[in-house]
Amino acid sequence: MNSTASTPRLRQLDRSHHLHPFTDLHDYAEKGGRIFSRAEHIYIYDSEGHRMLDGMSGLWCCNLGYSQERIMDAITHQLHQLPFYNNFFKCSNQPAVELAQALVEVTPPQFNHVFFTNSGSEANDTNLRLVQRYYDLLDRPGKKLIISRKNAYHGSTIAAGSLGGMSAMHKQTRGLDYVHHIEQPHWFEEGGDLSPDEFGIRVARQLEEKIDELGEDNVAAFIAEPVQGAGGVIIPPDSYWPEIKRICSQRDILFIADEVICGFGRTGRWFGSETYDLQPDLMTFAKAVTNGYIPLGGVMVSDKLTDVLLAGGGEFAHGLTYSGHPVACAAGLATLQVLREGGIIERAASEIAPHFQSRLRELEDHPIVGEVRGRGMFAAVELVRDKASRQRLAPESEAAIFCRDAANEGGLMVRQTGNAMIMAPPLVCNTAEIDDLVELLGRALDRTAAHYGIA
Ligand SMILES: *Cc1c(COP(=O)(O)O)cnc(C)c1O
Repeated sequence: MNSTASTPRLRQLDRSHHLHPFTDLHDYAEKGGRIFSRAEHIYIYDSEGHRMLDGMSGLWCCNLGYSQERIMDAITHQLHQLPFYNNFFKCSNQPAVELAQALVEVTPPQFNHVFFTNSGSEANDTNLRLVQRYYDLLDRPGKKLIISRKNAYHGSTIAAGSLGGMSAMHKQTRGLDYVHHIEQPHWFEEGGDLSPDEFGIRVARQLEEKIDELGEDNVAAFIAEPVQGAGGVIIPPDSYWPEIKRICSQRDILFIADEVICGFGRTGRWFGSETYDLQPDLMTFAKAVTNGYIPLGGVMVSDKLTDVLLAGGGEFAHGLTYSGHPVACAAGLATLQVLREGGIIERAASEIAPHFQSRLRELEDHPIVGEVRGRGMFAAVELVRDKASRQRLAPESEAAIFCRDAANEGGLMVRQTGNAMIMAPPLVCNTAEIDDLVELLGRALDRTAAHYGIA
């Protein structure tokens, strides 16, 4: 769209015909939204020409920003070469093969196989199929139950929404009855008087208690994001993952790491599982694998499972028309090449992320900031009225919504979850751009404090 004159018409048509995801449909039909029409580097532009610094990398996808010619070229080249062919019925294609190899090279050593999907949700559905098939082949069909966490996000198909722990989603759809949820490691919100480490141990041990309650012979797997993203960039207390690892190593269950946001550099290493030294049996990826330019997701499957799945024989009765789509895989391959050859993840971790984290920590002096937490290029800022008691500014996340709107108006795209502002800027930001982000967020905090009458 090139003409600003057509914006009112587009907005009208959008309100009339387009049902938006995770949106109040009534409200949107009345008020509409904002049309984005182009993007460059780390900036997005709406149809009226307003520029915003994108502090969310699209939706946790565009870790390399919006101007990666090499990925665009790979996509257009592949469209001319082989725009589509399926991977069913003993067929394959070069980009799918090459991306599979590249993913095996960049993921932890236990992973030598990948199953492709189009999204993170489908990848988590695929995890359920793989886990059940694995235990069936081992002749242990009783192991069917999955343990997940409240306020986790694993996608929005029925299965992925069931795996997730978003109460609003569970309220609107009846989920799978074989998924059980334990507490999340969100100390700031739920830790009460416990120290973060005490709280981390307490909620980790719920995994052990839940396994005992359900019976180890009935539990197939535990699924978790290394850092909950959509839930509010919840950095677990230091005690949490070691305790979960101890439990997983003592109990006979599989561990699925959902790396859809943490993967491809977000937390400072290639995968969150490396940042936290987890040893997952399955790893879900999507989003940044193609830098968001084309939909693609998948599951990395460890040797522990493939040893059984391949030896077992018989058809694995699961697949998607677009599993291993050549254009999506070409985009993924080019993304991995840019990440690897440019040393982007290592440079972001050693230079940009420390600057990002320390500049954000300066906001802890702000009167309405209760906590700044983060890891790598991933952060949250909790808003409070009273720092000591962690009392909130206003009920129903109202203050964070106000702050988000103020930030957006000021030219910064950030999100709000609960009472926190959350950020995941592109890994290709430079330090001056990080300074701009912190400055813009600071102004939004000032406006929010003034709005609630706090000096
Ligand atoms: C976004 C997300 C998903 C779902 O991916 P879609 O591509 O939207 O289906 C799954 N898990 C996590 C951790 C996510 O952030």
